[in-house]
Amino acid sequence: MQKGTIGVTTDNIFPVIKKFLYSDHEIFLRELVSNAVDATQKLKTLSSFGDFKGELGTMNVTVSIDKNKGTLTISDRGIGMTAEEIDKYINQIAFSGAEEFLEKYKNDANAIIGHFGLGFYSSFMVSKKVEIRTLSYKEGAQAVMWSCDGSPAYEMTDIEKSERGTDIILYVDDDNKEFLEEQRIETLLKKYCRFLPVPVVFGKEQEWKDGKYVDTDKDRVINDMEPAWTRKPTDLTDEDYRKFYADLYPGIDEPLFWIHLNIDYPFKLTGILYFPKIKNNIDINRYKIQLYCNQVFVTDSVEGIVPDFLMLLQGVIDSPDIPLNVSRSYLQSDSNVKKISGYITKKVSERLQEIFNSDHKQFEEKWDDLKIFIEYGMLSDEKF
Ligand code: ADP
Repeated sequence: MQKGTIGVTTDNIFPVIKKFLYSDHEIFLRELVSNAVDATQKLKTLSSFGDFKGELGTMNVTVSIDKNKGTLTISDRGIGMTAEEIDKYINQIAFSGAEEFLEKYKNDANAIIGHFGLGFYSSFMVSKKVEIRTLSYKEGAQAVMWSCDGSPAYEMTDIEKSERGTDIILYVDDDNKEFLEEQRIETLLKKYCRFLPVPVVFGKEQEWKDGKYVDTDKDRVINDMEPAWTRKPTDLTDEDYRKFYADLYPGIDEPLFWIHLNIDYPFKLTGILYFPKIKNNIDINRYKIQLYCNQVFVTDSVEGIVPDFLMLLQGVIDSPDIPLNVSRSYLQSDSNVKKISGYITKKVSERLQEIFNSDHKQFEEKWDDLKIFIEYGMLSDEKF
């Protein structure tokens, strides 16, 4: 067994993580599931280059709750970690100027997690103890367990584990019992993980039997691995676009038009933007543009990221160049984000021009709905 102290320059980062992060506790789940997805995709990549020759097997990420033990577990069958890798990636974290930064951003968990690269450690926001049980994909690797109870002291020991990959086991603390409720976790998975590229399993499919729903033995995958915006426009029908819109905003009227965005340079960005039927009572706050980073949900408050008049649009923007864990003020001043905003404005006006030229009748028919948008755009953005 190895014992040690996590390499923090601040005396003890854990109480700090807990104490300073009043809100946004829920994003620990996004961080841990994203790590599991990354580990899975890394192994797929290694395998496709012939650097991993074993069987990939089923590569699901599984989230499960054990109420009796008070644990929430995130499991993957990805690359896993050796003891040396845990040392390097988990134990050696350096926080410089931590205190000051934390004080400044105490209400912004995203900023803190982003600043310190705290992804994994965000689990301590909701846990009294965290265990990692992991077996690396490397040949002859020894499985290890790392555990830490929220002090800088950790323990690491060899274990038996036959399946490749990593289990992250959170012993949820008393203040955060909500994260042991199935309903709560399901809501969070639907919010952050709905379009992740690897199957995320939570519970079992159910069937109606003898007057009630019962679990079958089939895993329930909660996400759509290939949402419309990740597919080629030529592979999509109008019906596909309309269906995706209805999935995003259940109960809403059909959209007027849509634009499928796809750019590689000078930044990467994909997405689908929809022009809604603007009604007097349209609830802009309810049907907002959603921002993703590699299919992980980031936010649906895009104020300052896209121009105001574009906020009348709906749909999805996905860009790996939009940093996942940063504060709003950082996003608004980021030069990539500014370029992205300019690009979207350009695409939207091009699309309108195109409809005006090629389908004038449609343009006129829809003018009543479009004019608010176009007039607002002209007034607020000269280029548009
Ligand atoms: P980040 O993901 O931003 O690098 P994290 O603190 O979330 O920061 O994770 C640190 C590192 O630990 C990761 O880069 C990865 O190397 C390793 N790691 C975390 N979770 C897993 C996992 N489920 N499987 C394999 N490696 C992992």
